Amino acid sequence: MAYRILMRHDGVAGWEGDRDDFFASLHKARADLQSELETRLRNILIHAGESSPYYKRLWREVGLSPATENFPESLQRYPFLTKDLIRSNAAEMVSDKYDLKALDPDFTSGTTSARTTFYRNRACTVSRVGRQWGVLQHCGYAPGMRRGLIWGVSSDLPQPGAAKHLRRLFREYAASQEVLGCKVVSDNDMLEFHRRLVRFRPAVLYGYPSALVQFGAFVQDRGLEPISVATVLTTAERLTPKQRDLLRAAFSAETFNLYCTREYGCIGFECARHNGLHIDTGSVYVEIIRDGRRVSDGETGEITITDLLNYGMPLIRSRTGDIGSLSKTPCECGLPLPLLKSLDGRVFDNIYRPDGSVVAGVLLSYLFLDIPAIRATQYVQKNIQELRVFLEVTDDFTDAMEAEATRQLRERMGNDLRISIHRVDAIPRNPLSGKYQEVISEIARSERMLPVAG
Ligand SMILES: [Zn+2]
Repeated sequence: MAYRILMRHDGVAGWEGDRDDFFASLHKARADLQSELETRLRNILIHAGESSPYYKRLWREVGLSPATENFPESLQRYPFLTKDLIRSNAAEMVSDKYDLKALDPDFTSGTTSARTTFYRNRACTVSRVGRQWGVLQHCGYAPGMRRGLIWGVSSDLPQPGAAKHLRRLFREYAASQEVLGCKVVSDNDMLEFHRRLVRFRPAVLYGYPSALVQFGAFVQDRGLEPISVATVLTTAERLTPKQRDLLRAAFSAETFNLYCTREYGCIGFECARHNGLHIDTGSVYVEIIRDGRRVSDGETGEITITDLLNYGMPLIRSRTGDIGSLSKTPCECGLPLPLLKSLDGRVFDNIYRPDGSVVAGVLLSYLFLDIPAIRATQYVQKNIQELRVFLEVTDDFTDAMEAEATRQLRERMGNDLRISIHRVDAIPRNPLSGKYQEVISEIARSERMLPVAG
């Protein structure tokens, strides 16, 4: 109840209709879903060609005219979008049917490349919230259920003591969330989180696989009181079978992995067969691309997304930097939604402190979000004593900003690690995926096994 009221305050009232729309899609015939998808695809392409100055210009130059073409076949002729292109053309990509000020701004976190600001129209935001709740509910998590949250986006976490965060704190309280910050790496933090969770009795645990696995292993190793939940939800990273087993043992629950991004909401979700990720075709159109061409089902390539909901700033054929393949065969569960068979691109190395304790690499992706002059970051750890941080910066970058970056690093990494900062013009990309590898650990495996102090 409180949750619904707050959602209304946030201006996303009406999301229940979109959730129900998602549920309805699970019971449709495959052919009907396919024809709906084609209609949505055609509509967003026509809209983009008519009202987004960026696409209008670009497509005219190469002789493309969405109104007269057949989708999805013709989509192959349309140029790709990258985060670099979004960054440099954002304003021009916004549809002239919307006022930029009326759109909801958001940013990508930098898990796969530098941070990018983008916009969506309100109806899209509402749909995303609704469809995401549909996915969560399908995986056993309904609004209002208590959840333990192991997360890394610092801006999504409450900052105790700061008045401006009170509203967010209240909202999280109302939504029955229990939030643990990024510091799952310290034993004391995990003990404290365990203590709170035991009292709180969450129905759901939600977070990054690596962080949840670390916490689960800690609970087991220490012989702490087991925490049983109804379901474990993981996102933002690949989930290995071994991690799934550990999570089942630690929390007596089945784990559902999700493929969610800030731009596109929940792209995919697991069914009870855990065969891969079913794609929400009411929200996105997925293509797998290799060497610039769409590959057949079963073949691996870069996951490329056309957003079917964002009419404020159409995102057509956007390359995600994630690697995957589409299943050749339908899932035995009977859901009509196509299946993303593998998701291989989202793996992060960890960083180690000199005392052997671990900082999950994915969490570092969320540092420096408040320093816009830092366009991208790469962490390279050659040995356990030292961390090299490469910052791709703009001309506006100052020494004061570097000091602030160092402060944030120290806060996360402690004072014992030697940290050196290097300003660079461009961080080299992985030649295969084209994405930045944000965290590179060159520490020998034996060194990683150092006993954890304390
Ligand atoms: Zn299935």
